[in-house]
Amino acid sequence: MIKVQYFTFNAFRENTYLLIDSTKECVVIDPGCYVERERTLLQKFIAEHGLKVKLLLNTHCHIDHVLGNQFIKNTYQVPLLIHDLEAENLRSVQVYAPIYGFEQYEPSEPDQFISEKDLITFGESTLQVLFVPGHSIGHLAFYCPEANFCINGDVLFNGSIGRSDLPGGNHDRLLQSIYHTMYLLPDETVIYCGHGDPTTIKKEKFSNPFCAITT
Ligand SMILES: [Zn+2]
Repeated sequence: MIKVQYFTFNAFRENTYLLIDSTKECVVIDPGCYVERERTLLQKFIAEHGLKVKLLLNTHCHIDHVLGNQFIKNTYQVPLLIHDLEAENLRSVQVYAPIYGFEQYEPSEPDQFISEKDLITFGESTLQVLFVPGHSIGHLAFYCPEANFCINGDVLFNGSIGRSDLPGGNHDRLLQSIYHTMYLLPDETVIYCGHGDPTTIKKEKFSNPFCAITT
């Protein structure tokens, strides 16, 4: 069974996820660690728990989710997996990072492209890949039916939804992803978000001001 651990990093208060399998193999999703203190915290956690990092995944490649990509690749020698439609977003981060004050940003390259229906395996665990564009053009979510959770990046938030005014964003597409993909997950699925606290499908279906379907 997978255990989910998260850290909140960088000026955007982005959530960086570690999914830990019972064999101690783990995957890192959206590492936002930028300053030394954040990187040390993550590295220490991994070392102290005897974890073996197997893969690096990005839900999407906006700056706050990729600041630590190259650090993770260098430190653990693992491949970076993204949707191919996010490759351009990843490349463009190095252009605008200094404008946001991230002068030390180290660019990273994807090693493999993944898409809907691919399976991510590590240890004894499997994640399903969901394609949920709208906040960004090639946005993915990682769903684990056995452990009943989904890492959904910036699609659904606890009481809100991702913005769609950035390049490649599309509000209608985002709502379609929520209604036709996220809301097909079981109601009790725990949703881990790119920002803020976790929620459940049921809670958002009933009370999200942007996309509730039941009152
Ligand atoms: Zn984003």
